[in-house]
Amino acid sequence: MAQFGYSKQEINLEKLWVHCSSEIHAGHAVQPGALRFECAQGHGGVLLRDVRLDAITSVRDLMVLMAMSDMSDLKVECFLCGITTGKVVFKCQYGTDSSGSVCKNTSCRWLPQVFPSEGLTCFLSGQATTDRHMFRFDRCGHCACHEELEDRIYSALDEGLAGGSGGAEGVRFLPDAEVGQLAVACPCGRPGAFLHDVEHVKAAVGTETFNEEVASVLATARLS
Ligand SMILES: [Zn+2]
Ligand SMILES: [Zn+2]
Ligand SMILES: [Zn+2]
Ligand SMILES: [Zn+2]
Repeated sequence: MAQFGYSKQEINLEKLWVHCSSEIHAGHAVQPGALRFECAQGHGGVLLRDVRLDAITSVRDLMVLMAMSDMSDLKVECFLCGITTGKVVFKCQYGTDSSGSVCKNTSCRWLPQVFPSEGLTCFLSGQATTDRHMFRFDRCGHCACHEELEDRIYSALDEGLAGGSGGAEGVRFLPDAEVGQLAVACPCGRPGAFLHDVEHVKAAVGTETFNEEVASVLATARLS
């Protein structure tokens, strides 16, 4: 079930980022992605009914659309099979802007709080980054580059999720009331300044590391 606890962060549907598990770009699991629609049988190229894409301008709008998709409530017109139930899919765009191998993964996870890094400064280092993407905390809008976010997540795991050097320097895992679980909190300490979805943590450290080293820590930590 999708969560709607995001503030009204604006999004550009042309510039979404996804967590892709394909081995084509191993080690670079955060990639530009594209929003697509399929009928329930998996045919692409369907027409959306009842929903206008230009009305989807915020993270929250897209979450609502995904919830409709999850509940088989998204109406489409499929030219191939005539089925009227559709779903949202996220396609990896790796390689589509060059002549190299193209990633065709269509089962990516959307990263609602990853944005193009152009013009943004990393709050953790105070510097710009050469990465194409940054993670942006809700509410405060502070950004973190991938490498430093990954480092600080490990520090938080080593030093105790909510303690350690925390404070101004590090990120912490704190109870996020909006999603009902621990989430990465921005060092600025502003209420609600989180990376809400745990998918961001998976993308930052890698799914394998997440499953081996992070999932159990988060599962046993108490929401106090
Ligand atoms: Zn179809
Ligand atoms: Zn991919
Ligand atoms: Zn940084
Ligand atoms: Zn912040």
